[in-house]
Amino acid sequence: MLYFYRPISPHPIENLHNYLDFFFTRMFDDTQTAYSHAYLIHPDFQEIVNAYKTQIDDKLEAIFNTYIGLTTPLEQQTVKDAYNINNDIIALSNATSTPVKYSQLPIIISSKVKNLYDELWGDRKILGYKTVVNSCGTVKQHFNRFREINEFLVCPFCGLESLLCEHDDGRDDYDHYLLKSQYPFISINFNNLFPMCHRCNSKNKNQKDLVYENVATPQRRFYYPYSNENNHTINLNIVSPNIDLKDPTQWQLEVNTTNLAYEDCKETWKDVFDIETRYKAIISKHSKTWNERIFLKHHKICKKNSRSYAEFEEDVLDDFNDYLNISNGILMKSFNDFVINDPNCEANLSGRLVI
Ligand SMILES: [Zn+2]
Repeated sequence: MLYFYRPISPHPIENLHNYLDFFFTRMFDDTQTAYSHAYLIHPDFQEIVNAYKTQIDDKLEAIFNTYIGLTTPLEQQTVKDAYNINNDIIALSNATSTPVKYSQLPIIISSKVKNLYDELWGDRKILGYKTVVNSCGTVKQHFNRFREINEFLVCPFCGLESLLCEHDDGRDDYDHYLLKSQYPFISINFNNLFPMCHRCNSKNKNQKDLVYENVATPQRRFYYPYSNENNHTINLNIVSPNIDLKDPTQWQLEVNTTNLAYEDCKETWKDVFDIETRYKAIISKHSKTWNERIFLKHHKICKKNSRSYAEFEEDVLDDFNDYLNISNGILMKSFNDFVINDPNCEANLSGRLVI
């Protein structure tokens, strides 16, 4: 990804996850034989649980009763491990632990957990219920704070689309980075929920699994979007024998990271977000216009203002250094680099007439 987000935790929106964490931690201590609000439900969660009996209370009770009814310690351990491992998103991103899928839970409890966790996320689901909002606030409020702290203007997962800001009516999509359909216990964990542009969320990533490219491939590393790594930049390099890029099958795009420790994360990102295909399509579509802009700049600087070719070159290469704040900026930067690095660039520009 192009840059990392800064976390805004703690935020009230995390309360719902924290209340459930309290419930599961108490359930996993194996001291209780009966479902008990007094022991299992956090004091600040009790009003919510009492207000939504069928939506929350009955589901927690079903999970609890199923858990204590599991017939072997190994089955209970599997559930505990799934909870603890799946919620440690940093360890999963580094592939130092392996996430547990719904299909790996004892079948009798898998459906009960899914029944609750499928209903948690969303403005019209439990997170949007009035009593829950009173305790946790809204996702839009979280988004507004998030955008105050994270000021870059383009989606870090593509660099193509603008992100909304705190002054917009709406908000950008929150992506369940680890899929909530595949992995239990993480649908309301805000270390697994990241704003991204609609196209990245709904079209390109959609239901792709970060952890496995497909069922036959090994576990892979992926970027943790709240990484505090500063030494990481993505560079693009257009490789073409011809300045004409309108046919994307006729040239290559190298996507490189300056930090080789992230090489495999970069490959996961490229796959999940269709990076090469998207980038090549946009460069192909706009290359003629972008080339024209460079030509006009050369005409203005070198012909009209009689400045040197070196000054023109410097001007072009400086154009998109701020690419994290410009939609398509990373692509325009790579295109400028490609044109200027062509050994025939000066001769081509100088020999061309203004029409
Ligand atoms: Zn995006």
